[in-house]
Amino acid sequence: MHAESWVYPVNAHSGESLGHFLGRFRRANELSHKAIADHLGVQVAWVQAWETPSRRRNPTELQCIALSKLVEVDAKQLAKMVPPPRLHLQTRLCAVCYAETPVHRTAWQRAGKSVCDRHPLRLLSACPVCKTDFRTPALWDDERCEQCGLAFSQMHSYQLSSEQSPEPELGGGQ
Ligand SMILES: [Zn+2]
Ligand SMILES: [Zn+2]
Repeated sequence: MHAESWVYPVNAHSGESLGHFLGRFRRANELSHKAIADHLGVQVAWVQAWETPSRRRNPTELQCIALSKLVEVDAKQLAKMVPPPRLHLQTRLCAVCYAETPVHRTAWQRAGKSVCDRHPLRLLSACPVCKTDFRTPALWDDERCEQCGLAFSQMHSYQLSSEQSPEPELGGGQ
């Protein structure tokens, strides 16, 4: 952290997605999308899009550098956090990962991958109890299903192993 810094620093976790991190950063600093956009000199719609992967507008290399100075996270690390080019649109979760570190991970959104890259478990695409879709990760501050309240970290008992009843790949839009 630099002496002239005016932000409350938020650590980005290894593997964390950009949208999840930006949501945490904005809440910790009580910053609106507009405040960040004004600081970076970009359109507010772009900052909103960085938290909404389905809009498919990732920060450019230069925007990553500017953002890096604001959030105090290395630009190369930020570049690894952006959504994958082949994006699975529905927000997904590995509850075992989440119980270890409560962050949404970029790797869960790779189209064509339905199994966690860290555990032999199928990723959840919705709450296993009430079937409500997960909110976009930037809004995951309550760490639970918005409909029934089941904690993300407690959803692991509903997660099937990668050998059990494979479901067809859904989504995976290009
Ligand atoms: Zn996992
Ligand atoms: Zn639920």
